[in-house]
Amino acid sequence: MGATYQTTGIVLSRTNFGEADRIIRFITPEHGKISAVAKGIRRVKSKSGGHLEPFGEVALMLATGRNLDVVTSARLVWYPHELTANYERLGLAFIIASLVDRFAQPGEPQPELYAHTRMALGAVEAGESGPLVELWFKLRLLAISGLQPSLDQCLVCGRSDADSRYWFEAERGGLTCDDDRGAVASPMSQPAIKLWRLLFNYPYATIARIGGASEMAASSLADCDDFYDAHGGHSVRSGTLGATL
Ligand SMILES: [Zn+2]
Repeated sequence: MGATYQTTGIVLSRTNFGEADRIIRFITPEHGKISAVAKGIRRVKSKSGGHLEPFGEVALMLATGRNLDVVTSARLVWYPHELTANYERLGLAFIIASLVDRFAQPGEPQPELYAHTRMALGAVEAGESGPLVELWFKLRLLAISGLQPSLDQCLVCGRSDADSRYWFEAERGGLTCDDDRGAVASPMSQPAIKLWRLLFNYPYATIARIGGASEMAASSLADCDDFYDAHGGHSVRSGTLGATL
């Protein structure tokens, strides 16, 4: 084994490997996405076994390997215990982990993505569920990844006055006005446009205080999923998780 290094990581997924090993995927602030082998973790006596569960935040010591790094020690820092009792929140945590896994890059610092992941899992653990927290997580993830749709003006003519009606077009990547809307467009109200702009930029605690935000989120979450389908690979949607958990 090569040099060792320390980091904090959140467990995004794990896959059985060989007789008793697992490959664990982490998001970390300093090294982005890391896949590492936890040796012997499936044995009953394994020391790090209970410390490497999905969604847990872990203090790690790793050794660089030729192909995959190796977990040499793991100490659980934070785990969302409440999640396991609630199917809806568990489903949301799964959405968070799988989308972060898809957007995270290996080998580069991603402190903002790490903080967003931890904040989202923290909100779900604290009892948040439903479309607002899901929409916030997904839109902010797009913003952090440099993929956010343009909501400043009509994509075609540049109109941006508050009196016009606007449409969201997932394929074209933003808003159009009545005159320029294409065949596949979904109406987007001024309050919904304002809400999306806030969701790109603010922590969940700020968002949760906006009146009527939950209802607006419920009616526009599908637009966000359509945008993921068009620009970020298929979205992971709630209600489609059964077999994967
Ligand atoms: Zn226009």
